[in-house]
Amino acid sequence: MKIGFAGLGAIGAPMAARCAARDGLAIWNRTPARAEAFVAEHAGVRLAGTPRELAEGVDAVITCLPTSAEVMALLDGPDGLLAGLAPGTILVDCTSGDPASSRDIAEILAARGIAFVDAPVSGGPPLAAKGALTVMCGGSPEAVASAEAVVAPFAGRVVHMGPVGAGHAMKAINNALLAVHIVALGEGLVTLAKAGIDPRAAVEVLNASSGRSFVSEALVPERVLTGTWPQMFRLALLEKDIGIADGLAQSLGISAPVLAEVREQYRALRARLGESADYLDPIRTAEQDAGVLLRG
Ligand code: NDP
Repeated sequence: MKIGFAGLGAIGAPMAARCAARDGLAIWNRTPARAEAFVAEHAGVRLAGTPRELAEGVDAVITCLPTSAEVMALLDGPDGLLAGLAPGTILVDCTSGDPASSRDIAEILAARGIAFVDAPVSGGPPLAAKGALTVMCGGSPEAVASAEAVVAPFAGRVVHMGPVGAGHAMKAINNALLAVHIVALGEGLVTLAKAGIDPRAAVEVLNASSGRSFVSEALVPERVLTGTWPQMFRLALLEKDIGIADGLAQSLGISAPVLAEVREQYRALRARLGESADYLDPIRTAEQDAGVLLRG
């Protein structure tokens, strides 16, 4: 199966690297230097000059871009994906996008005989590099079955969530909950530190108790208590995900005051910390505001 991969960002690059072992991988990235470096590292990968060139002659294109707006923008024009994708092919969108845009994209593609599956991922760059991402899919059963083979190199688990848009809905709610845990844990831990409690002891007790979460069990011990703060996932992208989750709740008439509140908090954090901040930086901000360090 020949695959074209667009978007060699923090998560896209390790996903594409997993696909590189397969024959017939083509890649495209907006900033050519990134794509050139990838091709230099992975023998046999075809460097496409445009999205159209990427799509020509492949069975499937994978997109992994910041938002659905960038995916939509990649479709059109003489050098767009639509100019290269043949009927009978499939677009698998691994962007954490929004359900309504995905339905629009699916409709545009369906008119040309091209299938679409929204297939956002979770697990971050470390699990992408191991081929152990969870992929949550939205689409018809036939399209999702085709997508399973496309994402196999980087997927540890593929779950069919429902029709087009269902994968993006699932991902947005997951990430909104992640954001709730991050800000709540930051507030809780700096409070304990200010009260004179050793942060490592606090995290140990939390993780043996009912207040624990993935953030307290994995992220804080590995990245905060060690003071390493690796750059893994841009806070701006998490803020986008919370906006999708909150917008989805609103569109369905669901009262979701916690989502609305965390959306406001992340909007303010994005404005304060900038576009390149990492998603765990709110904990660092909580440290700074409280005048404590969560190390140990
Ligand atoms: P990055 O910001 O690291 O990379 C974004 C990628 O999109 C780059 O390849 C960038 O190209 C490209 N891009 C940006 N704008 C455009 C545009 N207008 N046209 C074409 N290409 C564009 O993002 P990530 O790789 O971290 O995330 C990608 C998607 O995956 C997002 O939806 C994110 O929410 C999701 N995700 C990320 C995870 C993570 O841990 N990082 C985990 C799970 C999901 P260029 O090199 O030119 O900047």
